[in-house]
Amino acid sequence: MTRLVIGFKECAEETGCSLCGRRAVSGAGPSLCRGDDQGFVCGSCGAEHEPVLAALLELGRAAGRVGRMGRHVLAPPLGALLELAHAAECYTQAGRRNTPMRRAG
Ligand SMILES: [Zn+2]
Repeated sequence: MTRLVIGFKECAEETGCSLCGRRAVSGAGPSLCRGDDQGFVCGSCGAEHEPVLAALLELGRAAGRVGRMGRHVLAPPLGALLELAHAAECYTQAGRRNTPMRRAG
């Protein structure tokens, strides 16, 4: 099994996913990539193989968008705040699914 990590791209580029081969645009900034060769991994493959990291990346992107909006307005739009709350919930749920169940008692 290929281990995925969060990598950082200086600039956006059109590339293929190193797992499924589909064409995708790798945006500038943090993105999922293979740990061995730093090959770009698309969102679908990331969610399938490493759901916690994929959810964490989406949470970071949502927080970044809301943060940028907050620089220009008193309060970000409700839709943006709901998107951030949804990303946070997805991250929380992804973490729970990957955590082994605790034994009672
Ligand atoms: Zn893929």
